[in-house]
Amino acid sequence: MNKLELHWKILIGMGAGILFGFLMSSFSWGYEFVLNWIAPFGTIFIRLLRLIAIPLILVSLIKGVSDLKDISAFKNIGLRTIVIYIVTTCLAITIGLILVNIIKPGKGLSEETIQELTETYAGDSTITTNIEQAEHQESGKPLDFLVDIVPDNIFGAMSNNQLMLQVIFFAILFGISMLMIDPEKSKPLAKLFDSLNHVILKMVNIIMMIAPYAVFALLAQIIVSSNDSEILLKLLNYVITVLLGLLIMIGVYLIILYLFTGRKPRWFIKGIAPAQLLAFSTSSSAATLPVTMERVTNKLGVDHEVSSFVLPVGATINMDGTSLYQAVAAVFIAQALHIPLDFMDQLTIVLTALLASIGSAAVPGAGMIMLVIVLESIGIPADKMAIGLALIFAVDRPLDMCRTVVNITGDSMVSVIVANSLGKIHDPEKGSEHDNKYVSE
Ligand code: ASP
Repeated sequence: MNKLELHWKILIGMGAGILFGFLMSSFSWGYEFVLNWIAPFGTIFIRLLRLIAIPLILVSLIKGVSDLKDISAFKNIGLRTIVIYIVTTCLAITIGLILVNIIKPGKGLSEETIQELTETYAGDSTITTNIEQAEHQESGKPLDFLVDIVPDNIFGAMSNNQLMLQVIFFAILFGISMLMIDPEKSKPLAKLFDSLNHVILKMVNIIMMIAPYAVFALLAQIIVSSNDSEILLKLLNYVITVLLGLLIMIGVYLIILYLFTGRKPRWFIKGIAPAQLLAFSTSSSAATLPVTMERVTNKLGVDHEVSSFVLPVGATINMDGTSLYQAVAAVFIAQALHIPLDFMDQLTIVLTALLASIGSAAVPGAGMIMLVIVLESIGIPADKMAIGLALIFAVDRPLDMCRTVVNITGDSMVSVIVANSLGKIHDPEKGSEHDNKYVSE
């Protein structure tokens, strides 16, 4: 076990967790046992990752921006990142729409199944809360999203993981201001942030030591809490459509990566595999962020100046997996409920899914909340909303796990592309000081 690379250790932990979950499901006391004695270790791990996320963003972004030669370098990174994020998200939605229109998973759903799913899930508190939350988000003014990026109290922003964009805003402003003052005056601060950055990365390393055990707990919990497999079979066509789309999206990333940087898919996947596995186990891009940043910077060799901006921003606004899922789910629900969609409706889905994925928080289940907005935009009536969500609710968690993998893979791919285009990527083969620590544990 000592010589094994981290991603293998995590994979073994995941496999063992799944087996253990199934084993426990066969005992009447198994569910309670896993929830009381195993699940807390997974929760502790997620809390540790979330604990580190805000300090990491703050410190590494301030260091990243203030390390730049001038502000125009930052503009370069920013502009490229946002443009590529929007393009890849539109691509993801288009792939989802093409697949769902070809496979038509909603057409095959029998009235009986719709009835059964509606009766079982339409009244579920998660669904009603999701609809309420989406409505709350929608009721604001059009420019609220801009206002929301600007914090009025940095400590307030730092105390809430959902306000990551506000912390990013503060860090960029701080970093730019450091660039604009006399270098002699900013030097002590630059040294301080550099040192803090090292300490925080070391904290990520320490937390990652328990990753293989934590994923065991997380997966065992998911298995004992999962719905019966019969429902999964009934929704198989829908599940396959989403999974196929996500798989194609990963393929698209690898092709883009190869075309634009000449780098091999194997190098990329090997570099970020532990982050992908954690995204799968936690269903949260935000919780995975510290590991994504560590891997992309230290293993893929992306310059800190690029990764410290591209990845936190990506975790909050770039969700290709989520947007693809939202497009498929919206059309699937319309097909199942016999609501016809014309070309304009599909175009509306592209636009709203783009905005909805930007607005989705990087936490488990967030994509489903914002799906309500996509459904509303194509005219799913309010009384059918709960039914629509009930149709996809039973399989949302496994799909969430998979779309989160795509979300963080997209962010990582864009980091490499942006870094490469600006000559800010180092020799990836050298690995890193941090990585060696994992191997030698
Ligand atoms: N769980 C996803 C993420 O954190 C968001 C979602 O699609 O629900 O990236």
